[in-house]
Amino acid sequence: MSLKEQYPVKLYNTLTKKKEEFKSIHKDKVGMYVCGPTVYSDVHLGNVRTFLCFDIVYRYLTYLGYQVRYVRNITDVGHLENDADEGEDKISKKARLEELEPMEIVQRYTKGFHEVLSQFNFWPPSIEPSATGHIVEQIELVQDLLDKGLAYETNGSVYFDVTKYDKQYNYGKLSGRNIEELMESGRDLDSQDEKRNKVDFALWKKASTSHIMRWSSPWGPGFPGWHLECTVMSTKYLGETFDIHGGGMDLVFPHHECEIAQSCGSRGKDPVNYWMHSNMLTVNGQKMSKSLGNSFLPGQLFSGDHDLLDRGYGPMVVRFFMLQSHYSSTLDFSNEALGAAERGYKRLMEGIKVSRDLVYEPAEKSEGFEVRVKNMIDQLFSNLSDDFNTAKGLAALFEITTLMNNFKVGNEKPGVLSQETFNALIRHYHGFVYDVLGLKEEDESSNQLVDGVIDILIKLRQDAKAGKNYALSDKIRDDLKEIGVILKDGKGGTEYSLN
Ligand SMILES: [Zn+2]
Repeated sequence: MSLKEQYPVKLYNTLTKKKEEFKSIHKDKVGMYVCGPTVYSDVHLGNVRTFLCFDIVYRYLTYLGYQVRYVRNITDVGHLENDADEGEDKISKKARLEELEPMEIVQRYTKGFHEVLSQFNFWPPSIEPSATGHIVEQIELVQDLLDKGLAYETNGSVYFDVTKYDKQYNYGKLSGRNIEELMESGRDLDSQDEKRNKVDFALWKKASTSHIMRWSSPWGPGFPGWHLECTVMSTKYLGETFDIHGGGMDLVFPHHECEIAQSCGSRGKDPVNYWMHSNMLTVNGQKMSKSLGNSFLPGQLFSGDHDLLDRGYGPMVVRFFMLQSHYSSTLDFSNEALGAAERGYKRLMEGIKVSRDLVYEPAEKSEGFEVRVKNMIDQLFSNLSDDFNTAKGLAALFEITTLMNNFKVGNEKPGVLSQETFNALIRHYHGFVYDVLGLKEEDESSNQLVDGVIDILIKLRQDAKAGKNYALSDKIRDDLKEIGVILKDGKGGTEYSLN
């Protein structure tokens, strides 16, 4: 029996609001689409958590033997401020403020996004398409919806007719919202007079002459609506119906609801079998948000350069910390929790080290011990197969870590197990830590070296100052600054941070 048959995956489907057994459309293959970032600012930790959730899905399904095609897009046009149909394009706005080309903004933040994700050891997606690379397909979809009578043009913009669609299909089936409520609560915006109903959403927006990002279309120059790109790119690379679509919980409405409407309206069938959504981050029990001043960037978390942080934590510690809760529950950041995660991470990596040095020497067998160890391996799979429960998966890894320590001190002997079970234990212990959970050894040796060298320079600078050699002390400070090391003089002495 293959691993995927032995440990069938169950996952919580936002569409049916139930935990369901996962069945892929094509045998042994999985198509997964995840909404990527809008690249107009630094990636924040909420994004990291969302992408971590789907990194685990990608890794675990691969571990079970599926061939996964993972598509994660880059939104480089069409995402307007406040996620609305009115207002400035987020990327255009940033470009205007910084006096850069929109594509310079896109390039800069896409690069930053990739750097952060690789620090967290994420597997890159199989395909990473961008919205601007798929304008032709988006125009085709708008035309198709117009032809089917589910969209209408007003003044060079095209809107999706939600009320008309709802008579044939069910608008709101993912988010549980109903159209009457939405009619009452929807925001009144400038484009309201262009829309037949306020629940309608933009498929194509007319661009003013001052708008830098625009393309010609049958309806005049403009740019695509935000929801369009994901429908078009998921269809192009995964087919009209595919297995898993994911994103953060905040995307359920309107973004994913509108994606369903566009697909059903155009092709008469649901685009996705399983919708998965990851939950939010909180800090000391409060929602993480820029306006509350409690949101930090990954870089600040690594360096500790934030008022709410006592010190910095390595990317693997943060990854471990996030894996300690299930993706569907909120995750609360605090110094205590991060400190505890660091201890847990170190203990786990210590266990891995011990496991490498173990020697198998045949000894008298024990049936009870054999069964106990087989159960430990079994637990790893059944926990991850239960809606990708990394929290329980880690608990199972710690049981094995305890066993490793017992081997080390001689309380148990590897040879009491059959060779086959011992090999499977080590293989899956390593497999779950490295391949499934994506943890690796934090590169501490180089960090410690940098620490040591900078401390020496700080002392030399103090000596120079004490000897009134200000030219030298300033030179040390300025040269360090040149390479991104910022010295800060305080009451307790001089500290440094990496820029
Ligand atoms: Zn999307």
